Formats: sequence, structure tokens, C-alpha cells
Amino acid sequence: MHSCVEKLLKWYDNHQRLLPWRQEINIYHTWVSEVMSQQTVLAVVVPKFCEFIQQLPTVYDLAKCDEETLRQLWSGLGYYARARNLQKGAQMIVEQLHGRFPQSYNEWLKIPGCGAYTAAAIASICHREKVACVDGNVIRVVSRLLALSDVWSKSGQSAIQAYVNSIMPPKRPGDFNQAMMELGATICRKSNPLCDCCPLQQSCLAFTHNCVTQYPPRKTRRTSINIELFALIVWHRQTDTFAFVKRTKGFLKHTIGFPLLSPGEVSELESILHSLPLQIFKSTDSFSHTITHHRISSRVALVQVTQKNTVAVLILQQLGFLAPIDWVSRSKTIAKLATTLDKKAFRLFLMQNQ
Ligand code: SF4
Repeated sequence: MHSCVEKLLKWYDNHQRLLPWRQEINIYHTWVSEVMSQQTVLAVVVPKFCEFIQQLPTVYDLAKCDEETLRQLWSGLGYYARARNLQKGAQMIVEQLHGRFPQSYNEWLKIPGCGAYTAAAIASICHREKVACVDGNVIRVVSRLLALSDVWSKSGQSAIQAYVNSIMPPKRPGDFNQAMMELGATICRKSNPLCDCCPLQQSCLAFTHNCVTQYPPRKTRRTSINIELFALIVWHRQTDTFAFVKRTKGFLKHTIGFPLLSPGEVSELESILHSLPLQIFKSTDSFSHTITHHRISSRVALVQVTQKNTVAVLILQQLGFLAPIDWVSRSKTIAKLATTLDKKAFRLFLMQNQ
């Protein structure tokens, strides 16, 4: 075994973080934890993972879970599309594979939402397959170890993948992958790396040449896209309830919450309301929100309706949304909203309508 790898595994054996899915190898737990951990910090993932597994202990429970429960269990983790794909994957495993989990990297790649990174993590941890996981942490470690600058291009990433595959020990591929990621997350950090505690210090070229901060080079930033949106709050004042819809189009498509309208659609709404004894109230305050490279400037559009099942349905249908899927009381609204954008809009509404 490469001496570097030996030191890394020894370090991992003594310093790995105690995580609920590491206590014993369980394919379902590993899969759920890997999907949850993509783009979400561990401090948020751990309690959500425990709650998820408690409520949906098997792949069968996940496959048949209703959308409302799934949305609740995923709330706070962000990127709800991951939860939808996870459930689609569970349904595929139950219906097409009769509850048997895929057994290799290539089989995992066929599961919805399971990309190269997730498939490699599950295959190496659960099936001891020698396949490298290359994420941002691993790229940073290798870039510094080998003083590599070309790490963001396709060829650069293939070179890193090939290097990690070449040093991966055949007996402990899962531990090796987790050790590399753990080292990147806790020691070889983006800023202020703890080189004095690093098991790889002696082999690290960037450390030897005193140029750690130069690696990896900065990524060229993707240009931000500015978006203007209105969160439409349809309020039935008599019962103090609010219409939730399944967003079938536009921004945050497929999620449940308030309809999100472009300024053009708000003008359309104003013409719809013109023929009804109703008015729209647009909040003057705006709030900003960022999702990946989208910078959203949002405001609230409020419509009060007196009849839930006729007027509200008509308005939403004319705007291209399906009928409200739920009328939710004021006290339960925040807890039921899955996206931060919706929550910010509702808090703004509350401040103005106590
Ligand atoms: S010595 Fe420092 S820069 Fe090199 S791998 Fe370790 S933590 Fe990263």
C-alpha cells in the first residue's frame, strides 16, 4: 500500500467523526445520508437523517411515503428535487428490483438522482468496490498534495479521478474514500488548513513549497442571473387559511408552496381580478434570496378571497396553476412551507397582517 494511504487510513481510524450512518454498514442508510449530504452541511444533515430513518426505516416505507410527509422530512435540507429523486429511486428498487438494492457502481448509476459521486460512495462503502469518489474536498486535497493547477477542467478532473483510483487500497475502498473526504472537510480546509495536524504533510508538495493557499486555483464564477418574482398569497380571511399549490411551472417547479409569479403574470392577475370584486395588494417591501446562481428579488402579492372553492380555484387555474392542493391555517403555514423563499414571503405577510 502507498505509504501516504497507510497514514491516511490510520488517521481516519483514530479521528473519523461519529456519524449515525457510520455505526454499521446499511445500504439504505448510506444511500439516504449521501443524498442528504450533497450541498448541505453535516450539522443540518445529522438530525434530519435521524428523523428520516425513524419515520421511514426501510426502502419500502420511502417508496410509499406521501408527498406531504416527504416534504416535511426534507424541510431545511434544501434542493427538494433530491428527495423526489430519492423516492423515485426507492420506487424503482421496490417495483422493478423487488426490494433488492443495486450491487455495483454501474447498477447504482441507473437509480434516479444517483450520479457518479453517489454511486461511487455507496459502491465503495457497501459493496467494497474500488471506485473513487471525487468531490470538492477530494479535489482540494489532491490539488495541494500534487501542486496541481488544472483541476476544474474535464481533463483535470479525469486526471484526479485516475490518480485517486490508482492509490486506492483494494481492501478498504470505502474507508479510503471517506478518509479523503473527511481530511478535506476537517483538516485540508478551504481556508486555514490545519497542516500541522495533517497525516499527509510529508508528502504534500504545496506544503513543502509553502504555497498551500495557491491550490486549488479559484474557479471562474458563473454569472449570476437576476430574477424578479412575486409570491402570491391567496388568503381566505374567514377561516384564516392560505392556498398551497403544486408549482407546475416556472421557478421552483414541482415544489409545493405559494404560486410564484413573474411581473408579467402579476399584470395578468390584475386583469383577472378586474372582472371580480377583488383587489390585489402588492407589498412595497422586497426581500432578496439566492438559489445557486439565481439572485431573486421578491415581493408578496396578496389576494383575499371570500370563496375558496370557486374564486380561488378560478384565479389559480387562469394563471396556469392547478387548484389549491391544501388550505393551511396561519399557525401551521411556516412549518408546512418547504422552501426558504416561501417562508420569507410569509414572514413578510405576517409583519404586515398581524
Ligand atoms: S499538508 Fe496541508 S495542504 Fe497538504 S494535504 Fe495536508 S492539510 Fe492539505
